Amino acid sequence: MVVGAGPAGSSAAKHAAEGGASVLLVDRKKEFGVPVRCGEGVGSHWLKELGISISDRSVCARIKGAKLVSPDLKSSVTISTPETMGYVLDRKVFDRELAIDAARAGAETALKTEVVGVTKNNGKVTGAILEYDGKKTEVKSKILIAADGGESLVARMAGINTLATLYDSDFGVEYEMANVECEGLIEIYFGKSWAPRGYAWVFPKGEDVANVGVGIGGMEKPNAIHYLNKFLELDRFKKAQPVALKAGIIPVGAPCRQLVADGLMVVGTSAHQVDPIHGGGICLAIDAGNIAGKVAAKCVGEGKSDAKALSEYEKTWRSAREKKLLRRLLLRKVLEELNDDDYNAAIGCLNDADVGKLLDGNYAPVAGKVLTARPQLLRALKALLTSSETGRTL
Ligand SMILES: Cc1cc2nc3c(=O)[nH]c(=O)nc-3n(C[C@H](O)[C@H](O)[C@H](O)COP(=O)(O)OP(=O)(O)OC[C@H]3O[C@@H](n4cnc5c(N)ncnc54)[C@H](O)[C@@H]3O)c2cc1C
Repeated sequence: MVVGAGPAGSSAAKHAAEGGASVLLVDRKKEFGVPVRCGEGVGSHWLKELGISISDRSVCARIKGAKLVSPDLKSSVTISTPETMGYVLDRKVFDRELAIDAARAGAETALKTEVVGVTKNNGKVTGAILEYDGKKTEVKSKILIAADGGESLVARMAGINTLATLYDSDFGVEYEMANVECEGLIEIYFGKSWAPRGYAWVFPKGEDVANVGVGIGGMEKPNAIHYLNKFLELDRFKKAQPVALKAGIIPVGAPCRQLVADGLMVVGTSAHQVDPIHGGGICLAIDAGNIAGKVAAKCVGEGKSDAKALSEYEKTWRSAREKKLLRRLLLRKVLEELNDDDYNAAIGCLNDADVGKLLDGNYAPVAGKVLTARPQLLRALKALLTSSETGRTL
């Protein structure tokens, strides 16, 4: 049984069904994919790596790079690396198509069905209590896959702590807006004045339509909508009109310490499989769902569902992804020490190759360059100087 028909859950359901398991995919939504709570940006390198071909219908805009803007708006750097090229999706369509793929692979789907409890026997998860139309039913599962997103409760009901601290959460809020001039680039605005411990963004969704949003650290005050309204005071948004409001919580700390238990797997944003720098989690969720679904099918086929057997998912996922995410977390923690003047100086001295190195986790040469422009950042950047990919100290 898979709880949550987002990218993680639908991918897990598809692969489990393809592997021969009998799969039930449940979501409390009455329409998979709706409402959307996402900036909808994905890198094309990810889709290539995961072997996902997306339909034209799910693509709103093709993105040719990213523009990083300094807090004083005086400097910017535009980068076109494989990691910054991609798409802004229509997630209503994208998520629905992932669920359709799961159904085509043989998964049964249940809408408007909320998991309100988990059943256990001798500590092992044996099923869930589903609520549909006010009626509760117990359904047995050999393996329960919790793919219930950032506000995840299912794994917690089963005894795995997936609660993100406020410090390791971001609050994101955005309007989809008409009458926004865009250049086919994802725009990221840094600085405490725009978005403390986060960034403000403009993600183009078509000719003159864009997701305009702000993500701030969970401890920051006032709230994210305050910063979004402030961002919208910029002249370029004078004619902009909202057509949708989207908001949500994003865990941006380390991935959860435990991803499996007897009869249970946790995948996607519910497992904090999210990039700590930009809060992107769509493709990480698909990747984790793919691995979990395949392992679940194999285990069901072998008649196993204990944590030891399911840990093949955890080991495979951690060895493929965790190191990079933890390096991104280090960068996030360093960046949150910077003030607006630091950002102005840093963005003023970086070029696209430098940002490419940062995204690749090769921090030391970039930190060295920023320090030449702003030596007072030595204390803040020290962690980056001593953590190049090879582990060498500058
Ligand atoms: C404002 C904002 C902007 C973002 N922008 C981006 C971006 O541009 N690019 C990017 O890659 N990521 C972005 N993200 C993150 C991205 O949306 C998530 O990482 C991604 O959706 C995770 O997929 P998932 O399948 O793990 O969870 P989700 O997509 O959250 O799916 C979880 C599903 O579980 C269902 N569910 C929850 N509880 C229950 C229950 N008890 N019973 C039944 N069903 C349940 C929910 O209805 C939901 O459908 C953004 C997030 C926010 C909040």
